[in-house]
Amino acid sequence: MKIEFFKHNIDDRDISNVNSVLESIFLTTGQVVKDFEDGLAQYLACRHVIGVTSCTAALHLCLLAWDIGPGDEVITTPMSFCATSNSIMHAGAIPVFVDVEKDTGNLDAERIEEKITDKTMAIMPVHLYGQMCDMKRIRQIADKHGLVVIEDAAHCIEGCRDGIRVGELGDAACFSFYATKNITSGEGGAISTNDHDKAELLRMLRSHGIDKSAGDRYTKLYQHWDMPVLGWKYNMDNIQAALLVGQLKRIDELWEKRNAHWTTYEEQLGRVTGVEILKTLPDARHARHLFTIILTPGMRDNVLLSLQRKEIGVAVNYRAIHLLDYYKKRFGYKEGDFPCAEKIGQGTISLPLYPALKTEEIDYVTAAVREVVGSSNGG
Ligand SMILES: *Cc1c(COP(=O)(O)O)cnc(C)c1O
Repeated sequence: MKIEFFKHNIDDRDISNVNSVLESIFLTTGQVVKDFEDGLAQYLACRHVIGVTSCTAALHLCLLAWDIGPGDEVITTPMSFCATSNSIMHAGAIPVFVDVEKDTGNLDAERIEEKITDKTMAIMPVHLYGQMCDMKRIRQIADKHGLVVIEDAAHCIEGCRDGIRVGELGDAACFSFYATKNITSGEGGAISTNDHDKAELLRMLRSHGIDKSAGDRYTKLYQHWDMPVLGWKYNMDNIQAALLVGQLKRIDELWEKRNAHWTTYEEQLGRVTGVEILKTLPDARHARHLFTIILTPGMRDNVLLSLQRKEIGVAVNYRAIHLLDYYKKRFGYKEGDFPCAEKIGQGTISLPLYPALKTEEIDYVTAAVREVVGSSNGG
């Protein structure tokens, strides 16, 4: 049996939505993007959504919109995809890492204040694997010190915790529609915010910093545009949006299926010696983006290889960012700096998780994990 790590959920309706755009005259940022933005704003119960080309672009633009740049520090987590902290450097600022909670892998809010200096401007929490950080606590700390909060919600469109939705307490939240995310357009991203002025600014910043969009020029009589600020070329187009509108309508249906698979995984792997599963908190709706197991350090790479030999698609999300070559060289990080992130980084394996996964495929994966981990444990 060969089991893919990921299969997307694009169906005939999505393809026909894309065909309609291709058969129309207008391919770039226009009405379909607006429809998707409105749909996502409604889903998230927020005021504004701005469609962009990636979550990395979304994070970068938010930092620019909130005036964070050279000389500033942004507090974030070493347990994420490197895009999170890279975006801080794209803006010219310095990422400052805070270790994670060992039970959830999320940024440990209680350790944030130790790292705040007079250069700290923002906190960038990541809702790891789909479970939200403690946003109430993070907002409280941010308010006390006058900091901006930009949520990396690449894993977590569907998330909720302590009655708080993703993006609700942050100044902005950033989403990804990359090829393996919960809904996807191959590449794509979005920003949500309740701040009207920043939303206007973000719309300019995603399109060179100019004050009229291609849609304005197309649907209305020609108007001269100006460029009040320096922006980037980060606008989502109608083709990407057409792929997403239908998936957004099915998003909770897709979540239900992943949630059921997750329960099956937990039942089958919850009590296996040598396999740890991170905690789902009681007051959280976990977005169920990545199902990861944490093995005893030293065992991971062998298990990873053995699972691949059995034709099971696996991934590593993530080796801790501070131990990546560039970060070690530039900032002098070393092993031992963030022990909880390192323990996850050295032990983690992500198993296949997507709606189309079949029960017998999960059975095959968990049997393989038990066998391989059992023999690595010495029987
Ligand atoms: C995927 C991902 C990103 C980057 O998303 P892109 O849309 O590929 O730029 C950022 N942060 C996290 C946590 C991610 O998983």
